Amino acid sequence: KLFNEVQELKGNIRVYCRVRPFLPGQDGKSTAVDYIGENGEILISNPSKQGKDGYRMFKFNKIFNTHVSQAEVFSDIQPLIRSVLDGFNVCIFAYGQTGSGKTYTMSGPGKSKEDWGVNYRALNDLFDISLKRRNTFSLIPVKSTSDVLDLMEIGQANRAVGSTALNERSSRSHSILTVHVRGLDVKNGSTSRGCLHLIDLAGSERVERSEATGDRLKEAQHINKSLSALGDVIFALAQKNAHVPYRNSKLTQVLQSSLGGQAKTLMFVQINPDVESCSETISTLKFAERVS
Ligand code: ADP
Ligand code: MG
Repeated sequence: KLFNEVQELKGNIRVYCRVRPFLPGQDGKSTAVDYIGENGEILISNPSKQGKDGYRMFKFNKIFNTHVSQAEVFSDIQPLIRSVLDGFNVCIFAYGQTGSGKTYTMSGPGKSKEDWGVNYRALNDLFDISLKRRNTFSLIPVKSTSDVLDLMEIGQANRAVGSTALNERSSRSHSILTVHVRGLDVKNGSTSRGCLHLIDLAGSERVERSEATGDRLKEAQHINKSLSALGDVIFALAQKNAHVPYRNSKLTQVLQSSLGGQAKTLMFVQINPDVESCSETISTLKFAERVS
């Protein structure tokens, strides 16, 4: 409820930045994240530039710093997920370079409940509510979270994975999990349909960085094209432009009915704190700043 009210004031697009911690074995690395403010400000430093050019400040709806847990992230977005039961269409994206925590946020690092990412928590929450309310059905024949987990594993196994210099298992594809939800109001018999898209985007890193060649290079260019098409669509929506360029990529075509109109969009912009990644981080944050 509260979320909907806030959304009406601010439009239907919000951007949350999540900073992943250094990983075991990365002690001693220095961080590019210089400062995080209380109102969504984040300051990135780039030591290769002198003076004030070495700093860049961004502002988003919220910053999740390194210590924020999966449960805390989910509790923040739970009202957004639940609005699907009221017939809203919702798209949640994770955007960022390979290794920045997109899959961690969307799926989680493991199968234990504590590890669960947005995908599993969202489905669990919707099933929980539907059992409690006994007035909601999923259009697709799944009966439990574990049915969906099985489906997702098949989806994961089918994702194209290519090896690049940057990350051996760098995901070279977008993963989209779509849940259709039908709500039935038992009191007056009215029904609503909502749709939830949970999207783990392909890595946003620039082509040169991963030293891709041949097919890998073509693939990277294709990914960059679809990510910039997504950026253009969200930007046009945020600006309330009359023309929204949905047709420029398959990704935006697939999501057309859930981007714009009454639909709600949340982008997790994922960053890796390593100072060595700071120029990639700045370009990630510039992308996100443009759509927020
Ligand atoms: P991406 O999907 O963007 O390529 P991953 O989600 O695979 O990145 O994350 C890269 C590594 O960082 C993984 O080992 C993951 O477990 C770890 N990681 C990412 N985000 C966090 C976090 N918030 N807390 C702890 N570890 C994280
Ligand atoms: Mg991933």
